Amino acid sequence: MSDWETVIGLEVHVQLKTASKIFSGAATDYGSEPNTQACAVDIALPGVLPVMNQEAARMAVVFGLAIGAKINQRSIFARKNYFYPDMPKNYQISQYDQPICDGGEVEIEMEGSSRNVMGEHRKVQLTRIHLEEDVGKLTHLENESLVDYNRAGTPLIEIVSEPDLYSPDEAFAYLTALRNCLIAAGISECDMEKGQMRCDANVSIRPRDTTELGTKVEIKNLNTISGVRNGIAYEIQRQTRAMQNNHPILQEPRRWNADEGYTTSMRSKEMAHDYRYFPDPDLMPVKVSKNWLDNLTKDLPELPFDKQRRYMEDYDLPYTITSVLCPDPKLAAYFEEALAIYDKPKQIANFIANDLLRDLSAAGEHGSLPLEECKVRPAHIAELVQLIDKGDISSQIAKEVFFEMFETGKAPGQIVEEKGLKQSTDTDELEAICNEVITSNPKPVEEFKAGKEPAINALKGQVMKATRGKANPRIIDELLRKLLKG
Ligand code: ADP
Ligand code: MG
Repeated sequence: MSDWETVIGLEVHVQLKTASKIFSGAATDYGSEPNTQACAVDIALPGVLPVMNQEAARMAVVFGLAIGAKINQRSIFARKNYFYPDMPKNYQISQYDQPICDGGEVEIEMEGSSRNVMGEHRKVQLTRIHLEEDVGKLTHLENESLVDYNRAGTPLIEIVSEPDLYSPDEAFAYLTALRNCLIAAGISECDMEKGQMRCDANVSIRPRDTTELGTKVEIKNLNTISGVRNGIAYEIQRQTRAMQNNHPILQEPRRWNADEGYTTSMRSKEMAHDYRYFPDPDLMPVKVSKNWLDNLTKDLPELPFDKQRRYMEDYDLPYTITSVLCPDPKLAAYFEEALAIYDKPKQIANFIANDLLRDLSAAGEHGSLPLEECKVRPAHIAELVQLIDKGDISSQIAKEVFFEMFETGKAPGQIVEEKGLKQSTDTDELEAICNEVITSNPKPVEEFKAGKEPAINALKGQVMKATRGKANPRIIDELLRKLLKG
């Protein structure tokens, strides 16, 4: 074990999925022509005034409640002053000393999970959550730079953690858990490729078994979860080497260079900020009434790890399957919809986690086909499991039926009917086939009668072949044994 302990605190910016911007009525859609979604407020034309979007506040409060933060009855907006061409007002509207939420905690999963058992969990403490607006986007070309203000004014929450993470893997686990909670709360898609979740990682080291915090370095604007893990891992090495050589660690922002795998200092005169925060005189305080809080508290979403514990306990599902179903609220709702129709959690969960997800991932052009575009509906899965249970089809044939369901969207019953896949339970017909197989296969018959039990499998295989897999295996077994005895 190293003589040094790592301490990490993360500042995570998350885009809220409101239809319009936080202080204007402009749309927030992604991927539109540059500067087609920036209205007078977003580009700060003289004389315009911002108006707070209530939906953004609702989303921040829902998330705060879900993770046990204190919701402040009154919070205010502040101006964060600096000059940069991606921000036409020359100040960003944010919250400073009176944010919308204080505290809260996010449950993370550490190591030690196995097929059936959930691993060790713990809660990471948060400092605060505040609302703010996003800025525009700069694209630097060889001799010029382009600016797109479509993103300016998009609502963000910034989630600030305490220095309560102690390794790159924990930071990774935290971001994964945070993302799953935000998605479950229905307030962001957290698509990092679209910049909907971005992270600054504060990293310091200190001698092991001491409590005072070391000097921190802030790695700015990490936009992948693995970038966060790798950037922090690099910083730990760099800082440890500096300490061992008695070089001071400078408190500074650094940039993570993902392609080369190292961080570089961003320190410059321009970076030495004094933001001169002051309350924004154009905006009213955000007031959260008791009544509103009570209403929001009533339909809070279930957090993914709570759902997972419930699924493991109530449905006796293994850890591995629940950890596929629970992080995705749409998939979990799909499962519960099928379950409401036919109460066989294990079989239904298996079809969803194995067959359905496999086919969705094979059908997608970029990543998986979205669940809402899938032709197989929860009722179809419930019916399929029912057909197996009734003995109409074997699990083997069910796989074939599923393939057809996925391609055509037809109900499994209809497919079984149309393709003549129903298992034969006509005992007379089956008995005739069994007799034929017994007559034409004297060797296994003799062996079975001499006490060699497995020899019956050869006979079963022949019957299956003769019925093209449509005979019910249980009935074949019974019939063969009866005929061989007689
Ligand atoms: P600043 O004043 O530089 O913005 P803050 O105290 O507001 O610093 O903290 C910003 C983030 O940095 C928080 O997530 C916090 O947990 C984290 N942080 C603060 N000090 C340290 C430290 N010594 N090591 C690691 N993370 C830290
Ligand atoms: Mg700070």
